[in-house]
Amino acid sequence: MEGKLSYQLVKMPLVTPFETSFGRQLDRCALIFKLEADGITAYSESVTDTDPFYSYENNSTALEIIDRYLVPHLMKLPVPGEFMEQVAYVKGHNMAKAALEMLLWDYHARIKGMPLDRYLGKSKGKAEVGISLGMEPIETTISRISNALDTGYQRIKVKIKKGKELGILGAIRDRFPDINLTADANCDYSIKDIDLLKKIDRFNLQYLEQPLGHDDLIYHAKLAKSMSTPICLDESITDLEKAQKAFEIGSGEIINIKPGRVGGLTNSLSISEVVRENGGHCWVGGMLETGIGRAFNVAMASQVNVDYAGDTSPNSKYFKKDVVLNPFTMKDGYIEANSGVGIGVEVDTNALSGYKTAEGVIKVWKM
Ligand SMILES: [Mg+2]
Repeated sequence: MEGKLSYQLVKMPLVTPFETSFGRQLDRCALIFKLEADGITAYSESVTDTDPFYSYENNSTALEIIDRYLVPHLMKLPVPGEFMEQVAYVKGHNMAKAALEMLLWDYHARIKGMPLDRYLGKSKGKAEVGISLGMEPIETTISRISNALDTGYQRIKVKIKKGKELGILGAIRDRFPDINLTADANCDYSIKDIDLLKKIDRFNLQYLEQPLGHDDLIYHAKLAKSMSTPICLDESITDLEKAQKAFEIGSGEIINIKPGRVGGLTNSLSISEVVRENGGHCWVGGMLETGIGRAFNVAMASQVNVDYAGDTSPNSKYFKKDVVLNPFTMKDGYIEANSGVGIGVEVDTNALSGYKTAEGVIKVWKM
């Protein structure tokens, strides 16, 4: 068995800067992984970025953890679930684990000659699409929402932060009283802000996403009991056990599953089962992935357990020119899962080279 694992670090300018409660992002600096084995080439992407602002992981930690601890378990090309069991002794670092776990999903789906969404389990063949809008002046946001609705998006999500919530949500509701609207705070509030957060109830949101701390479950449970707006957890759900605990104590009834953050698709599928068993809802979020990472998200978002519209927008919302030759497009508010084998994307190697800021071979093996 021979194999090679290599990576490219790419820096891709975003079509519009993306502002959340923790900062303004102009580029996506993505780590793209390539596995070549048995005549098959598989790709994946790490959702880490340059800085540890969304979570403690970043591109440098991901590369180090993969190089020192994870790659030895990749070399025998186990199925993804086995790989995750083998690397369980490494605490955390689920973004690094996800990068290799997803490579194995692409590899094994290709071995079976199946599209990834079908290889994963029960696919609807398509994913419901919502849009996530960064923070901008109210008038800009209103016009972006208007355009998004014209384009067919099924749900509108806006980013909010403390002190910048009632104004924007009120303006949106005045203009669009009946749309499916949600707000994402990216952890910007504390439990002391409970009275302010309760005022959000008047806007009839489908849910309020991650108002409190990035690893909190307890205060979210307290908040959920005092608000009529359902709580959706994002940053707090880093693995399966966190999802189980969240339902056990009532921290939220909706989960934003980000495959790249929860350790990959094995864990994503397990979390979606926990959600179903508890009568909750889930959807698939994104982390500004390139067309490579996006393909994994769309395959997951197409699964029957995923019942709310997600953030898997067409590639063109994020990048003028993506690193794949067959980007996803949206039709009637849906994105169809790729029908080709594996993740089904045709990687544009010229575009990848154009965006490249670093590259390296992590391991070449023969066993
Ligand atoms: Mg979020």
